[in-house]
Amino acid sequence: MGEQFVITATKCAFFDFISKHHNKRSLSDIVEKLSETVKSELSIRHAVFYFYNSSDEFYTQSSPVDDTPFNTFILKDGEAYYYGEQVLIPIFRKDRLKGILQLKGFENEYSPAVINELAKTCTSFYTHCMELIQVTENEQKYERLFHLTEQFHAFMNKDDVLVELITTLQEMYTDFIFYLFLSHDNENNLNLPIKDLGFDHQDGNEMAMEAFVTGKIQFSFDEKINQTILYTPLKGKQGVYGVLQVVVNHGINLADQDKNFIIMLANAAGTAMENAQLYDQSKRLIKDLQLINETSHRLNKNLRLADTMTYMTSRIMESFEADEVGFFYQNHQNEFQIFPGSTKFFNTNEVHVYIDYIKGKLEKNLEGLFLGDITTYLPDGSFASVMAVPMVQSDTLRGCAIVLHKNSYHFSFDMFKLLQSLIHHSTLALSNSLLREELETLVKTDQLTQLYSRNYMNTCIENSMKADRQGTFLLIDIDNFKGVNDTFGHQVGDEVLVQVANIIKSNSREHDIGARWGGEELAVYLPQVDLEAGTAIAERIVKRVAENTNPSVTISCGVSYWIAENERNYNQLFSRADKALYVAKNLGKNQVVVEDDIH
Ligand code: GH3
Ligand code: MG
Ligand code: MG
Repeated sequence: MGEQFVITATKCAFFDFISKHHNKRSLSDIVEKLSETVKSELSIRHAVFYFYNSSDEFYTQSSPVDDTPFNTFILKDGEAYYYGEQVLIPIFRKDRLKGILQLKGFENEYSPAVINELAKTCTSFYTHCMELIQVTENEQKYERLFHLTEQFHAFMNKDDVLVELITTLQEMYTDFIFYLFLSHDNENNLNLPIKDLGFDHQDGNEMAMEAFVTGKIQFSFDEKINQTILYTPLKGKQGVYGVLQVVVNHGINLADQDKNFIIMLANAAGTAMENAQLYDQSKRLIKDLQLINETSHRLNKNLRLADTMTYMTSRIMESFEADEVGFFYQNHQNEFQIFPGSTKFFNTNEVHVYIDYIKGKLEKNLEGLFLGDITTYLPDGSFASVMAVPMVQSDTLRGCAIVLHKNSYHFSFDMFKLLQSLIHHSTLALSNSLLREELETLVKTDQLTQLYSRNYMNTCIENSMKADRQGTFLLIDIDNFKGVNDTFGHQVGDEVLVQVANIIKSNSREHDIGARWGGEELAVYLPQVDLEAGTAIAERIVKRVAENTNPSVTISCGVSYWIAENERNYNQLFSRADKALYVAKNLGKNQVVVEDDIH
């Protein structure tokens, strides 16, 4: 049989293998096929493939049959080497020795030319198979990269991106060690190998910082321990969001392809982190605008100052996770006076140290005060984080908002800016409403209803208690008035309030006093009138309101009475009427309850 035929048969067997076993090849399949084919086609008793690794070691897939000391220096690509009875066929790929096929126990003799051709055939079979493996592997990797990128962009959260990045890398490259360098404002409650960027003593921090600042990949190689480290920035379009550190230890090869793949993955992660951050920012911005918008809206409704301030306090507490929120205005004596609606702490004595300090600062700087730790200046206080924003009108300090938290550095600068714009938006409305209430106490009549003011009524009752023998007091509250505002709007609410006030006026005599008690509460004082007559008047008013208002509303009324023999205390007169009113509400509204009925 011609020697050449043996080579052809070997080639055919190889070709067959390549074309049939598409996709399912592994390195061990390939070397097994290589040695088996050569063994059977050339009728050799013994054919073993020795793998050669970069640490200059040989090993076989089965236990070694022979420990021939191979001399790697004399081996050449595509040339068989005769060693005593043996023939060694070196397998090179890209100029690097990958293994040796050891042949022993020849049953036929072959010419060196045939053996050399065999060597070439084996090498090209090996190379070809390895290339196919690589193509398939790359295909899989890029498919993975594609899916991962898709997944990254579905995440709305930076942490999710980082978790996915690290777990994927750890899964794909079990030989490499991965770390993330992140700036320390990143809370690490993830179970990830995170190092703080910016701590000098930490290993590799300088290179990581370089990658972070320049956005360029950095390499380091430690000859002593033969360790390669790669620093890849997690980069988006607008910035760098961290650095991925890849540690490749002694004996492990970081192929260009793997390197490129890791870099691509890091870039995809960087872009995804940027998107998550932008999403976060826009969400926060929308929330901030909402807060400003709702507050301005509320302020423009011209509600009672106390209602408005309570609302603002609660929104600020919620948005800034604050411990205490207080509002102050400067009175005519240039003292800071507390607004209603501030939290409890602002009614304590401890507040004065804060006020004195803050006022001093604000007088010098109308921008406001933002302190992460005020305990440096006020060591005895219970609060560390302070934000204070002045209310400024025509370049003068009119008051301020103070927001406190027990922990230091609790508020971010963004929060301070938000508080500033919130206060800037509200100052005018606040001082108007303050002015309005100040005026109300000075003026005898209420502007809207043209009833008397509460202040004026107080004075009248006080005088009546000194001069008269008895009197009856009616406290009236419109039922479900909030519903009227909500359904028809505030303006209609105001009109209804006026209608009720007019009914009160038309049902009282010259000496009777109808007053706006506050909000949608009205009061009538009937000097010299006994309880029975007073109750009848109350009943009449309740009936007329139900019949003559449009949109129709009802009222509830609490009645109290004083007589000289018993007492002359107007505070108690009010509180008894208030109690009766409360009972009227509880009994179903649209009715009169007299204080005696509850005793
Ligand atoms: P209830 O029957 O328990 O009294 O229900 P209510 O809805 O009347 O009670 P609530 O105290 O919850 O609401 C009072 C509402 O009256 C809330 C406030 O906005 C509104 N209000 C107070 N003063 C005025 C005002 O001057 N004009 C208008 N339009 N509404 C006012
Ligand atoms: Mg009320
Ligand atoms: Mg009411």
